[in-house]
Amino acid sequence: MDVKLTLSPLENWIEGLDQPLVISGPCSAESEEQVLETARQLKAHTNIKVLRAGIWKPRTRPGAFEGIGVVGLKWLKKAKEETGLLTAVEVATAEHVELALKFGVDILWVGARTTVNPFAVQEVADALRGYDVPVLVKNPINPDLQLWIGALERINQAGITKLGGIHRGFSPMSGSQYRNDPSWEIPIELKRIVPELPMVCDPSHIAGNRTLIEPISQKAFDLQMNGIMIESHIDPDNALSDAKQQITPKTLAGILDRLIIREPATENVDFELRLKELRSKIDKIDSELLEVMGARMQVAEEIALHKKEHNITILQVNRYEEIMNDRIQKGKSVLLKEDFVKHLYELIHDNSIKRQTEIMNTEKAAGETA
Ligand code: PEP
Ligand code: MN
Repeated sequence: MDVKLTLSPLENWIEGLDQPLVISGPCSAESEEQVLETARQLKAHTNIKVLRAGIWKPRTRPGAFEGIGVVGLKWLKKAKEETGLLTAVEVATAEHVELALKFGVDILWVGARTTVNPFAVQEVADALRGYDVPVLVKNPINPDLQLWIGALERINQAGITKLGGIHRGFSPMSGSQYRNDPSWEIPIELKRIVPELPMVCDPSHIAGNRTLIEPISQKAFDLQMNGIMIESHIDPDNALSDAKQQITPKTLAGILDRLIIREPATENVDFELRLKELRSKIDKIDSELLEVMGARMQVAEEIALHKKEHNITILQVNRYEEIMNDRIQKGKSVLLKEDFVKHLYELIHDNSIKRQTEIMNTEKAAGETA
């Protein structure tokens, strides 16, 4: 697939914006106090650089809280002046773009419900022409990589090079543990096609609940994403939108502390040499393991013949019990967990029984025809 995007690396977007990019703040701006207090607490408990807030909310059904509108931009500006945090909002129309830029918003994002509509994306792109503002494009709600790429291309063709993607998951068919299915293969494929495209994960909208935010964030970093966007609120349970998935700034601080950011690779020759050495050890041990396992299976076959000769059943519960207990104890002495050894012997034993059954039946058939 031929995708040509002209992109600026994340570190050139805005002075002071470092990797990983962490964006947090309420799903929706609700009141001046809520926006300011969230910003203050984020500043006090974390070292994130960007405050988000939804100003215009695209709601699935009419009648839900549809966003506070332009007055919220004033609160964001105030929060920025007081805390020094950069600000980010969702834009869905040309008017949103103009107003957000007028109030000094630093980063814009295109929401999932907008990305699905090329007319709307084009309107946003046309309004962005001539500005040098970072724009993040969320994946469309349906798992359509082409549509996501198309939206990125439209914005890029309007001259926006500080461009990135936000992975927020895809509407699930049914019965998913996620509000939006992560389908990780889609952002991974986008990263493969356009490796230099900065990618931010939005665990809040993938999870739809608080408990899954941390593991999704860790996974995003382990898949080499460049940042995360997490919704936070001073009083999550009473949030006017997405209450179940919002967390307090303090909870966010705990999550950020625990996340492990690993390096994708290293130039370090010693590291590579040692890794190679360890991998060849593993290869050798695996060969030995398979040989030993093969030998064990042969003995099991001999046992089958022996039992057959003496008309004895394949399964002897006492013996199985004895093996299991003994191997679990032996496993413990070489630091193997009980659960692992138990699973391993269930597999081995099951296979052994299958093999013995085959042998006994073949033997029987052979005996009958003789
Ligand atoms: C949001 O970020 O608050 C939002 C509306 O998200 P999405 O576009 O991913 O649904
Ligand atoms: Mn939300």
